[in-house]
Amino acid sequence: MLTITSFETLSAQMNGRVVTQSDPDWDATRQVFNLATDVRPAAVALPRDVSDVVAAVGYARRNGLRVAPQATGHNADAHGALEDTLLVDVRELQEVFVDARARRVRVGAGVKWGRVAPGLSDHGLAALHGSSPDVGVAGYSLGGGMGWLARKYGLQTNSVTAIELVTAEGRATRVDAEDEADLFWALRGGNGNFGVVTAIEFAVYPVEHLYAGVMFFPFERASDVLHAWTELVPTLPDEMMSWASLLQFPDAPFVPDPVRGGSFAVVYGAFLGSEAEGRTLLRPVRDLAPAMDTFAMVPPAALGTMAMDPPDPLPFVPTTALLDDLPHAGVDELVAAVGPESGSNLAMVELRQLGGALGRRTPGAGARATLPGALSLIALGVPEDAESEAKVRAYLESLDRAVRPYRVGDYANFVMEPTDASRFFDPETWARLRQVKALYDPGDLFKGNHHIPPAY
Ligand SMILES: Cc1cc2nc3c(=O)[nH]c(=O)nc-3n(C[C@H](O)[C@H](O)[C@H](O)COP(=O)(O)OP(=O)(O)OC[C@H]3O[C@@H](n4cnc5c(N)ncnc54)[C@H](O)[C@@H]3O)c2cc1C
Repeated sequence: MLTITSFETLSAQMNGRVVTQSDPDWDATRQVFNLATDVRPAAVALPRDVSDVVAAVGYARRNGLRVAPQATGHNADAHGALEDTLLVDVRELQEVFVDARARRVRVGAGVKWGRVAPGLSDHGLAALHGSSPDVGVAGYSLGGGMGWLARKYGLQTNSVTAIELVTAEGRATRVDAEDEADLFWALRGGNGNFGVVTAIEFAVYPVEHLYAGVMFFPFERASDVLHAWTELVPTLPDEMMSWASLLQFPDAPFVPDPVRGGSFAVVYGAFLGSEAEGRTLLRPVRDLAPAMDTFAMVPPAALGTMAMDPPDPLPFVPTTALLDDLPHAGVDELVAAVGPESGSNLAMVELRQLGGALGRRTPGAGARATLPGALSLIALGVPEDAESEAKVRAYLESLDRAVRPYRVGDYANFVMEPTDASRFFDPETWARLRQVKALYDPGDLFKGNHHIPPAY
C-alpha cells in the first residue's frame, strides 16, 4: 500500500512537483473545469520536462499505480474513480513554436488554444480550434477537435503531424506517419490511453480574414430561428460552418454587456469567403430580422471567443448527441422541451452543423477519422443548488427524449461522464485500437478519459 510519503521518492526524481493530500494546494491543484467534479487521484505529478514525465510513468508502473494524463481538466469528469491512479498533469509544458512559412506549429502538451490562435492570426494563419480558448490543444486534438473550420478542414486530430510522448515502458519517443505509424494512428482519437503526450505538432491553414459573427434573436423567436436554420444548413458549402443555440446568459461579468442576463436564440457563422457571398448564404436567417448582428470580415483571432464560452471553471451538468438532419417535427419537439415556453433553466442548447470534411475519411487519418451525422448537440445547465440541479437534469432528460429519434451516435470529446468507449468507434476501429493498446501498453497502465482496454 502506497503512503503519501512514498511520493517523496518521485518528487526527488523530478524538477517539477508531486502534489498530495498533505499539501496546502492539493484542492487547488486537483480542481478541474467542471466545479461539480471532484477528482481524487492518489497524487498529482506536475512535470516540468520530458525527464519528469519519464520519472512519473516509471514510478507509477513500479508501484502498481495507473497513470491518467491530463492537460487542463476540461474532460476530467469522464474518468470516474482515480484512487489507484497518478494524475500526470502536463500544465507546465508550455512551449509554443510557430513556423509560419511551413504552416506548422509545435506546442507543449499543456498549452491552451488561447496561447496559440491569436499569434497565428497575426501571420494570416488559422488553427482548427473550437469554441473556447481555455481548452487544451492536447485533449482536444487526441479526442477529435471539432471547430469553426471543421467542415472545410476536418477534425483537428487529422491535422496533427507528429506527437511526442512517453510510453508505458518509459520511453520518450516521437511518432508520425512514418515512425511508429500504428501508435500515431491510435493516438489520434484514442486520447490518453497510449502514453503521456509531451508535445504536439500540427498543420495550420492560410486565412487572412473570414466573414463571421453572431445574430441574436429574442428568445421567443426560437422556433422560427431553428426552423429556418435547420432548413438552411444542408444547403451551405463546406466553407461555411454555422451553429445555432438557445442561450440563457447569467448576469455575470464574463458575459458581454448587451446580452448579460438575457435569453436569446442565436445563429453563429464562420465563412471562408467574401462578405457578399456570406451574406447571400445566410439571408434566410437574417430575413428574420435579428435584434443584434455582429457579422463582419474579421481576422481568424476573432473566432477564439466568438462562442462566448465561460472563461473560468464553473459547475455544470451536460448532455450531448450526434443527430441526423432534424426535420420540422424534431425542431418542434426540441423547442417544446427546452424552448421559451418550457420554463427551461438550461444555460445553453447548441446545435452545430456537421458534414463536409467531417464526414470524409482522408488518407492517413487517425482512429477518429470522421464524425457521423448532420448535427451535433450539446446542452448544459449551471445549477446553483440542489433544486436547480434537479430542474437542469429534468430539462436535459426531456431534451434527450425529444432528439432520441434522430440520434446517430456520440462525439467522445463532448461526452463528460464515464462510459464504454467502444460506442465511439466502429467495430473494426475499436478492435485495432485495442490491438495497438496491447502492443504498447499491455499492462493497461494508461487510463484515458474514455478507456480503451488492451486486446487479450
Ligand atoms: C468550455 C468547453 C468548450 C469546448 N469546446 C469544444 C469545441 O468547440 N470542439 C470540440 O471538439 N471540443 C470542445 N470541447 C471538448 C474538449 O475538446 C474536450 O473536453 C477535451 O478533452 C479537452 O481537452 P483538454 O486537454 O482541455 O482537457 P483534459 O481534461 O486535460 O484532457 C482530456 C483527455 O485528453 C487526454 N489528454 C490530455 N492531455 C494529455 C496528454 N498530455 N497526454 C495524453 N493524453 C492527454 C486524456 O485522456 C485526458 O483525460 C469543449 C469543452 C469545454 C469544457
